Order: sequence, then C-alpha cells, then structure tokens
Amino acid sequence: MIDTHCHIDFEEFDDDREDVIKRAKDKLDHVIVSGYSNESNMKVLQLSKDYEGFIYPTFGFHPVSSQNASEEDLKIAHENIHNNLDSILAVGEVGMDYYYVTDKALRERQQEIFKSFLELANEYRVPIVMHVRDCEKKAVNIIEDYDDIPYFVFHCYGGSLKTAKRIMNRDDSYMSFSTMLCYSKHHQDLIEKIDLDYVLTETDSPYLAMTKEERNEPANVVKAVHKIAEIKNMDVSTVDEITTNNARKIFKI
Ligand SMILES: [Zn+2]
Repeated sequence: MIDTHCHIDFEEFDDDREDVIKRAKDKLDHVIVSGYSNESNMKVLQLSKDYEGFIYPTFGFHPVSSQNASEEDLKIAHENIHNNLDSILAVGEVGMDYYYVTDKALRERQQEIFKSFLELANEYRVPIVMHVRDCEKKAVNIIEDYDDIPYFVFHCYGGSLKTAKRIMNRDDSYMSFSTMLCYSKHHQDLIEKIDLDYVLTETDSPYLAMTKEERNEPANVVKAVHKIAEIKNMDVSTVDEITTNNARKIFKI
C-alpha cells in the first residue's frame, strides 16, 4: 500500500513526525511527499534522504499558495526541479484551482504557471502530479498538448464522471482517491464507476481527515483502500494490489 500524496513536511507534524512515519512504516510500502513551494520542496527532499527507500519526493508549486509568487520564485522552482531530477519521482503538485481562485486574471496566471511546469515535465519526460479543482475538463484539454509526459496524475480527483471517462480513455492518466472517500458521496459515486486500472490512493495529510479538527496521516490510506473495496465489492487485498502496482508503474518505485 502506498500513500501517493501527502504533506508530512508541514509544521503540523513538527512535534511528532517520527512517530507518524513509524506508524506509516508499519502499514505501508512507501509514502510520496508532494512539494508545495520552494521551501517545502527542500524539506521534502531532506525527508526522502532521512527515510531513504520509504519516503519519496516530488517537487511542486501549489496553484493557490503560489498565485502571488514572483517570477524569481518560479525560476527557482524550475531550477530546483532541473537540479534534482535524479531524486524526484515527479513534478507536482502543480495545477489550477478554480474553487479557491475566482478572479479571472489570477486564474490566467495559474494556467500560465501550470503550463510552465507541464513544459518542464515534458522536456524531462517525468510524470506530473496535478492539483485540479473545479476545472478538470479544462485541465484535460490542456494536457493534450504534452505528448512526452509519461504519466499524468489527478490528485484528489473530484470532477465529473464524464471527465473521468475522458481520463480513462487516455491510458497514461490516473485519478487519485483519498480518505475523503469515507465521507464524500460524490467521491463514492465516482469510485463506484471508475476502473481501478486508473486509480491511486492517497491521504493528502494533514488535510482530509475524517473530521475537520482531526489531522490526517499517511497510515490512514488504509481507510481509503478499505472503502474502495467496500464500494466495489472487492477484496481489500485485490484493491491494494491493483492500486499499488499502478503507483509502482507510474513512479518507478
Ligand atoms: Zn496536496
């Protein structure tokens, strides 16, 4: 079992990160920590060195937190990806968020930044992990231009079933489902109809715990796998095997 997307570099884990990672190690094969900003990318890299072979990094530039980022910040993000290609599994999380960002100019800026990372992933031929919210259809149209990116991952996919079907038709694209499955009817309806050959599992820790007050952690990805098994009426071990193999194929771990 693999948590393919979380943020255990965040300060929410500063007091007990070691315990959180130990609990994850008891249950999971690997944890992929997605960089969020230039600062986060460096923390994620350090974590992957401290827990070599268990924690893996991806370098990103989150669409919401980076919307006011300067050209210099963006340049540093690009350079850090270039300089750490041997260590990172993918570019991400990058993308577009139309849920939080409603201003037209800011949305355009998000799109520009997103495309700059798509170009980079295309040039280096590495997978891309995308945060796309309330603009899934647009994102699917955009990624069509990048033929050399080996795999596309829609982290925490929450779009329509129609767009999910387009994603399944691509054969190089995946949708990741989180612990949110335990309480979101929309996500439950989606997973019921989405073929597991296109599915990954994640927690997005510290976010998306069972309650708003709670802090999520990677070991909880077990709950997402169990929920998928329940909804699809399959064995937990089968769901685990398929989704873990998908992650191994995409990220080469
Ligand atoms: Zn995330």
